[in-house]
Amino acid sequence: MRSFRADLHIHSVLSPCGGLEMSPSAVVNKLKEHGVEWFAITDHNSMANCPAYQAAAQKAGLHFSWGVEIQSMEEIHLLAYFEDSAKAQAFDRELYKSLLPLANDPDYFGDQVIIDENENILRVESRALINSSIWDLTTAVEQVLAYDGFVIPAHIDAGVNSIISQLGFLPPYPEFDVLGITARLDLTDYLGHNPGLSSKQFMRASDAHYLSDLGHAYSLIHVAEPSVTELIWASHKVGGQIYRQCTKY
Ligand SMILES: [Zn+2]
Ligand SMILES: [Zn+2]
Repeated sequence: MRSFRADLHIHSVLSPCGGLEMSPSAVVNKLKEHGVEWFAITDHNSMANCPAYQAAAQKAGLHFSWGVEIQSMEEIHLLAYFEDSAKAQAFDRELYKSLLPLANDPDYFGDQVIIDENENILRVESRALINSSIWDLTTAVEQVLAYDGFVIPAHIDAGVNSIISQLGFLPPYPEFDVLGITARLDLTDYLGHNPGLSSKQFMRASDAHYLSDLGHAYSLIHVAEPSVTELIWASHKVGGQIYRQCTKY
């Protein structure tokens, strides 16, 4: 077992508001430069670009996990991760069906581009991905678990689209052992104001939409190997596996 430097919340060129500079090779090179060993692509409501970034990660000797940032009916952002790419893709199809049928506005949000590992454009997604699913929080969590995924609330300290901003509190159910936090949060200060959260583990990530966001915020995750199965073990603190958060801003 050892600690892996992990950034498990990164957006690709598919995400609205994301930079077209976030190509697979550019992301991988930037992460290597900063010593990040393990990453996940977590686009809004779609895993269509995971194969391209997984291929780039493999070529560069980095560890990759399939992820997605789900927006529930309450406009809560949840990060979900899957070990098995077939199950991830099956989940992705269900999630897509659950999205409100709104068209993307490319003039406002930019094109939602799906690419291959060589950065060729395979297609442009026309449905608005920055949009809510008809799944409520509980249903979204149950759906992830049904496909053997791991799910945590994203950026709980954010003023919008966090479980706490949307509900006003952290509900007792569904229960989360790990909570996502923003890149720059002073966690000690935050826990001082929110002592009820002190039993939780926290996962810091960049939530990068641009290359310059990468490398400054990550978690050290102490596991036998960088995998979603091990993430789940770590969330239960089995075998001394823990999350530590780092920020270099
Ligand atoms: Zn978010
Ligand atoms: Zn995000």
